[in-house]
Amino acid sequence: MYHLDDIPFNSSSMLDMYTQFHKASFNSMVTNSVLTNTYDYELPYVFDILVHKGMKFMGGESAAVGRVFEYFWKKDLVKVYKETRNGKLGPDYSMKFSPWLVSRSLSPCYIYEEVKRYERERQANDSIYGVLFELIWRDYFRFISLKYGNALLHLGGPRKVEHKWIQDQKLFESWRDGYTWYPLIHANIKELTTGYMSNRGQQIICSFLVRDMGILTILREQLF
Ligand SMILES: Cc1cc2nc3c(=O)[nH]c(=O)nc-3n(C[C@H](O)[C@H](O)[C@H](O)COP(=O)(O)OP(=O)(O)OC[C@H]3O[C@@H](n4cnc5c(N)ncnc54)[C@H](O)[C@@H]3O)c2cc1C
Repeated sequence: MYHLDDIPFNSSSMLDMYTQFHKASFNSMVTNSVLTNTYDYELPYVFDILVHKGMKFMGGESAAVGRVFEYFWKKDLVKVYKETRNGKLGPDYSMKFSPWLVSRSLSPCYIYEEVKRYERERQANDSIYGVLFELIWRDYFRFISLKYGNALLHLGGPRKVEHKWIQDQKLFESWRDGYTWYPLIHANIKELTTGYMSNRGQQIICSFLVRDMGILTILREQLF
């Protein structure tokens, strides 16, 4: 939603805590910049995934804008977003904008405009505000990666935290393939094969790998 030039920090002075960053910059960022940004749409790549009991994603800008219309106006789900966003099953507990955002078929500025229109024409509440809050998280991770670069991917992270990680290939594979004996982990890993996983699902499987299994090194080896 924002460009680095729009915010009151540069890449080296970026705050390390999202809540501080959000408090310090939200008002100035919104009033100064968002409406003047222009974005070129690149040709989106087409994907079309049918998920049983889940979301049917169609590629392209028309489908993306259609989903925004459906979520905000037709089904009027945005007014309860904050209460439902931690769900895991079905198309409507969250907005499902991420595949279109990442393929640049959907501009976060367009979502911002729809949020403001919804506030004018229907209502403003914490859920509607929550939409912008999450989109700013997305920007924040980009800004933080400008600040720390590859250190984000180092084993100890930018703070160089020391930890004794477990080196167990079989344990790692049980997580990767979804056979940990925890149905919740299995279900989320299975969902990932569709190309999408809920925000809560991502948090659960990642904390399980890192905090419960104590494995990080093997994941890094396999990724890089
Ligand atoms: C461990 C972990 C790994 C993740 N990896 C990815 C990834 O590889 N690619 C990816 O696109 N998203 C990732 N996310 C963010 C988020 O989980 C997905 O974008 C989310 O599942 C999108 O579903 P949605 O569009 O219905 O979200 P909604 O709840 O409807 O949120 C709307 C938009 O806000 C942004 N957003 C929401 N939650 C987050 C978040 N935690 N961090 C940053 N932005 C957010 C996304 O752009 C999202 O589309 C990750 C989150 C976690 C916790």
